[in-house]
Amino acid sequence: MSFGMSADKTALKERIRVAINSERDHLVEVAETIRVNPEIGYQEQMASQLLADHLVETGFDVEKPYCELETAFRATLRSGRPGPTVAVLAEYDALEGIGHGCGHNLIAGSGLATAIGMKAVMDQIGGTFVVMGTPAEEGGGGKIKMLDKGAFDDVDAALMIHHAGNKSGAPAAWPDGTCLAVSHIEYEFFGKPSHAANDPYNGVNALNAVIKLFTGIDALRQHIYMEDRIHGIITHGGDAANVTPKYTSARMYVRAASRDHLYDLVGQVNNIARGAALMTGCEVKIEEDNTCYDMRPSYVIGAKYQANAEAVGLWGSGGREGRGMHSTDFGNVSYKVPSVTLGFAISHDAIPGHSQEVVDASGSDFGYDQFIKAATAQAMTAFDILTDPTLSMQAWDEHRNWSERYEQ
Ligand SMILES: [Zn+2]
Repeated sequence: MSFGMSADKTALKERIRVAINSERDHLVEVAETIRVNPEIGYQEQMASQLLADHLVETGFDVEKPYCELETAFRATLRSGRPGPTVAVLAEYDALEGIGHGCGHNLIAGSGLATAIGMKAVMDQIGGTFVVMGTPAEEGGGGKIKMLDKGAFDDVDAALMIHHAGNKSGAPAAWPDGTCLAVSHIEYEFFGKPSHAANDPYNGVNALNAVIKLFTGIDALRQHIYMEDRIHGIITHGGDAANVTPKYTSARMYVRAASRDHLYDLVGQVNNIARGAALMTGCEVKIEEDNTCYDMRPSYVIGAKYQANAEAVGLWGSGGREGRGMHSTDFGNVSYKVPSVTLGFAISHDAIPGHSQEVVDASGSDFGYDQFIKAATAQAMTAFDILTDPTLSMQAWDEHRNWSERYEQ
């Protein structure tokens, strides 16, 4: 079986490369506009509209708002012939107070760049190509909301690019490209106020409860796995030193190497919170907002991605070696469909994440050169999936058997 391709694959890949390169100045302008006008999660009106408008111009059908999210969109290009559906994910949210310190302006631009590359070959191949505008990656869980609304139900592969400091590469073998699952949890303790000196015996001390939460977690640390991370802050510690604190709160991030293990660990931390409340006579309220799953990269597609990155001359190596100790809502997508991220260098030297250095490198000539190459590799990988039915089948097979293959 083939997906109805007429021209030669190498020639079509060259057509992708030429199409993206001929729009280079325009693509850089779009990414730069987003970089210098940073918008935080769910407020990315300008960036999402800018991309949506350009995608309409490129010949895509655009749904916006999408999944009941004002700044999400789905842009579709159908070949009209059978074949898989490949989605490229465009993030565009900035960091509060830093701006584009995670380089999402380049991920945004890559959505449009890949679209331009795919438009140049879609009449020669089969399947469907989608650019998904995914808001609020930085803590807002935009992709989780979109998953819940079925945005990925008909998708066979999800691709992204993301800067990786001074490294480049797609994951090709476990545990490369994996990261940590994370739960964001709010703990609130409710006590009873009293004069801290006159009648302390009438008070119920919520500060003691939140302190016991932290010391209880410290006792747990001896018995957790190497990859586990538990970190947080007290967000309210009381109101006056001479009043028994009636209310305290804490915000914790709990992380683990897999979703299932995370659920176990969160259960232990929640029990500590309940114990802290019991010991002090307080009431406790526990609220979990987003849970990001760990990333399960498709190594089947990752190997193709890596080959394409080398073919376009992407600078740097070793971008996705070992497990990353970060978390992303792309992990949830990776539990649903074969997914993979190409990391790309935006700097020749190592730079810290979520920093001004990233803001600068994301707007540098080198950063933009690399962005064009990474987006070209992304389009070529989408092309590989749309033109090779066995690749998509192997990716789904790997996806179905992920746990037994990689998680012992
Ligand atoms: Zn990021």
